[in-house]
Amino acid sequence: MSDLLKKIESKKRCERYSAKKLPSFPKCKHKTNSTFKCLTLKTQDVARFHQNFYKLNNKVSQDNFILKHCRLSKCHRKRLKDQSRGPKNLSAEYYVTIKNPHKQVRVCKSAFIKILQVGKDRVTGILQRSYKDGGSVAKENRGGNHKKDRYAQRQRSVMTFIESIEAAEPHYCRAKS
Ligand SMILES: [Zn+2]
Repeated sequence: MSDLLKKIESKKRCERYSAKKLPSFPKCKHKTNSTFKCLTLKTQDVARFHQNFYKLNNKVSQDNFILKHCRLSKCHRKRLKDQSRGPKNLSAEYYVTIKNPHKQVRVCKSAFIKILQVGKDRVTGILQRSYKDGGSVAKENRGGNHKKDRYAQRQRSVMTFIESIEAAEPHYCRAKS
């Protein structure tokens, strides 16, 4: 029973991270002479990029894919007082990798999320987390195994402690007698 539940659960998880919609071609007006080259992308480029993303059917790999195609840049505007809510003025550049010739084409954020069919909040979240970690790749940090690991570690150190007492005991006894 629980195996079946696990199977259903993992199937659900896969579905959540697989493509629901087809990529949509950027509808913005960014032509070649703009910073963003959204409209220089061909339909195949868009489709291939979308496909490469959904080939990865787990969240962490997808997040890393997104990170690999973004470049973070800090806004130089100064932030006021409240530093606690993380980098508010974080801005990023978004790139789509194309073939023939192989290169990265800079696109605007709205084109990027339309092509990948991901929520803009998800992208923002990934970037903010990466920024806080100093630009490292995405990690799953929703607890889970972390807690288990910490517990195991603690248990190990308790065991070592007990062993060390047991090892020390004979001396202690001898000294007393
Ligand atoms: Zn655009």
